Amino acid sequence: MAEAGTERTERIIELLRERGARLTNARRAVIDALAMARSHLTADDLGVLVQQSAPDIHISTIYRTLDALEHLGLVDHVHLGHGRAIYHLTDQPHQHLVCEGCGAVVEVPDSTFAQLADQLRQGYSFTIRPSHFAVLGRCADCAGVGKIASDH
Ligand SMILES: [Zn+2]
Ligand SMILES: [Zn+2]
Ligand SMILES: [Zn+2]
Repeated sequence: MAEAGTERTERIIELLRERGARLTNARRAVIDALAMARSHLTADDLGVLVQQSAPDIHISTIYRTLDALEHLGLVDHVHLGHGRAIYHLTDQPHQHLVCEGCGAVVEVPDSTFAQLADQLRQGYSFTIRPSHFAVLGRCADCAGVGKIASDH
């Protein structure tokens, strides 16, 4: 996880080429910003970040690029609640839990909802896609669990 952004950027660019897509300056800049980001970014956050290193790239180009990368399967978005979408690269698959109290985002392994997915597929012929929306709830601190734990 503590991997240099550039190395990750190059790997994503390789995937992009494998999928027969063209590498543009905007695409590289957006991939790089996502690879370097320590936290999840909204499209607006991403726009600001990309323009810091590449001020010549227009904000509408950044949004279009994000869209194109999503269609290529290199980028995905998730809604953290109330429609706020954040973007991340798809090379490290994960699901999201978000705290309704403080907004903390917890990343959990892709396999977390596997059992639920199986149950719903078998019982309701419904295929869930938990990666599209975060599961809302309370983090340890907001639920008071953290406080109790630290009293031990
Ligand atoms: Zn994520
Ligand atoms: Zn919380
Ligand atoms: Zn969506």
